[in-house]
Amino acid sequence: MGKTQSRFRYLRWRGFLVVLQFRKEKDGLGYINVFRPDHPKAGPSGNVRKHILIAEKTLGNFLPDQAVVHHVDEDPSNNLPSNLVICESNSYHAFLHARLRAFRDCGHPDWRKCCMCHQWDDPQRLHITPNGKSAYHRQCNNRRHKEYMRRRRLENPRPPRTYNNRDPISGRFIKEVRENE
Ligand SMILES: [Zn+2]
Ligand SMILES: [Zn+2]
Repeated sequence: MGKTQSRFRYLRWRGFLVVLQFRKEKDGLGYINVFRPDHPKAGPSGNVRKHILIAEKTLGNFLPDQAVVHHVDEDPSNNLPSNLVICESNSYHAFLHARLRAFRDCGHPDWRKCCMCHQWDDPQRLHITPNGKSAYHRQCNNRRHKEYMRRRRLENPRPPRTYNNRDPISGRFIKEVRENE
């Protein structure tokens, strides 16, 4: 076997690997990419995720900048039009995923998770912070506050308190020092 022949074999093997790489359908996250460098949503390698193209075909226009495409069955390679939902913003997309997670974990899509005891519960029984980002039971919060106060008392105990009491016989004020209960 001559030197030229072995080099040729090597190049053919390299070429085969390059073709394999180009033909690779899914990327590391399971999305299917299409080479479309002129597309507004193309990444640095010139690839666009296929579900974006399918959603745009259904919409008949380019997607707005903020729009996100959601996969209903959460399989990023299932790009059937019935499996795609166009969300107008990422926050709506996050809301959808929160509902999906709640439904999968406890069977109620509108329930929230208490951030202190990590149990799912009806929002009626939870306190939800004004920005809506976290929810907790009042009892859980009270318990945590009590625990915090107890630890604080252990770490820096208060000095014994003094009381001004009137002596019943002489009528003068006397100072009484009592230990804390
Ligand atoms: Zn999604
Ligand atoms: Zn709780």
